[in-house]
Amino acid sequence: MADGTNKATGNGAILVVGGGIAGLTAALEAAEVGVRVILVEKNPYLGGRVARMHRYFPKLCPPTCGLEINFRRIKSNPRIRILTLSEVESVSGQPGSYEVTIRQNPRYVNENCTACGACADACSLTVPNDFDLDMSQRKAAYMPFEMAYPMRYVLDPQIIGTDDANRCVQACKYNAIDLSMQPKVFTEKVAAIVVATGWKPYEAKKLDNLGFGRTPNVITNVMMERLASVNGPTQGKLLRPSDKKPVQSVIFAQCAGSRDENHLAYCSGVCCLASMKQATYVREQNPAAQIQIFYIDVRAMGKFEDFYSTAQKDEKLQFIKGKVAKIEEDPATQDVIVEVEDTLSGKKIRSRADMVVLATGMVPNTAGDRLPMDVAYDEFGFLVSDGSQKGIYAAGCAKRPVDVASALQDATGAALKAIQCLRR
Ligand SMILES: Cc1cc2nc3c(=O)[nH]c(=O)nc-3n(C[C@H](O)[C@H](O)[C@H](O)COP(=O)(O)OP(=O)(O)OC[C@H]3O[C@@H](n4cnc5c(N)ncnc54)[C@H](O)[C@@H]3O)c2cc1C
Ligand code: SF4
Ligand code: SF4
Repeated sequence: MADGTNKATGNGAILVVGGGIAGLTAALEAAEVGVRVILVEKNPYLGGRVARMHRYFPKLCPPTCGLEINFRRIKSNPRIRILTLSEVESVSGQPGSYEVTIRQNPRYVNENCTACGACADACSLTVPNDFDLDMSQRKAAYMPFEMAYPMRYVLDPQIIGTDDANRCVQACKYNAIDLSMQPKVFTEKVAAIVVATGWKPYEAKKLDNLGFGRTPNVITNVMMERLASVNGPTQGKLLRPSDKKPVQSVIFAQCAGSRDENHLAYCSGVCCLASMKQATYVREQNPAAQIQIFYIDVRAMGKFEDFYSTAQKDEKLQFIKGKVAKIEEDPATQDVIVEVEDTLSGKKIRSRADMVVLATGMVPNTAGDRLPMDVAYDEFGFLVSDGSQKGIYAAGCAKRPVDVASALQDATGAALKAIQCLRR
């Protein structure tokens, strides 16, 4: 049940931190074998990064389908207590018996909300929409996205105490807005903890030579997902940011900051596949579009080999082995010019396109923001999960960069370990 309306507490419970696909999976796997679960998510909605994607590789189905099934399973399971807008403040105790302090921030909207949208219509303040990576604006009274779970509006704290907040209250016919809501801090007892705090994109502005932030038509792979999404800033049309022209040519720059000692020393494993997937978005909208993927190595391991082979059959999609050295804008046309060292010929290539997509890598959310619990991290901020740590188990991208299918397997394993800890 949403937002803490049931009673999944006590020593017999498991705490899951992070409500992305890994956290959702761990929570459901445990709850469906009879274990009580408290799921803590800092956003006002569940689903994490995949909720913002247009499609999933390799099947190219919309992530909303999988999420919707999970949300239905959650709704029908009284053992899961969902706490959105929440974070863990402290953890004490030991495996089998932890005491956890949780802070839940106010949504200012209660369970009476029917998602009618009248508060958003009445609210005058618009702010950059973080869900769309600031490529669009949203009202300060908002639904994070139309399939959001819980299906309930949220009020930005910045309008509390303003006329906008009062206008929202007046517009709501269902008595669903409660401006007196305060942050709640409370403790719970749990036997084990699954950490599924996921990832964030590497900050592309740090890549000086690649022009992000200076050249409007240089975007990142996570922005590309939002551009292609029908609920995104361009309603799914691939329009280049500077002049909204439909894109006729796109360059994907692989390893943007990755496998580079000065930025991210590791390979994120999925961004080659993500660019091939995004090439299909371009192709679907423009059968004549020219697409180039500049890569150091193509990583498409195991079951993803077929996905790579299919991409290679596209005659207007070129894979070119070479590292992008520099990206600049042609001021006359706002086209983007990419300078590449072609590894095979040793020559310099200059290539022009309407838009460049930087394949930036995945950074663990725990890189700068350590969790208030006794866990070990590797040099990059991923949680170490070598089996030595009992009682707290990492899953999904909190542990290493992975695709969704691997995150699901991982989460199931973490749920099992947490259940074993509880039964011991
Ligand atoms: C450009 C791109 C495209 C991709 N496309 C695909 C694809 O097509 N197919 C595929 O299989 N994989 C794809 N991936 C990989 C996919 O995004 C990950 O596998 C997936 O997001 C992993 O889910 P997760 O739950 O581990 O992390 P996340 O999705 O990051 O979820 C983590 C959740 O934890 C929450 N959280 C974080 N910190 C805290 C905290 N302290 N307290 C409470 N909550 C917290 C976050 O708000 C979030 O909801 C892609 C990756 C990239 C970079
Ligand atoms: S808070 Fe009230 S006005 Fe806003 S969407 Fe919910 S029911 Fe409608
Ligand atoms: S998956 Fe591809 S683009 Fe991403 S870091 Fe690895 S090699 Fe580079």
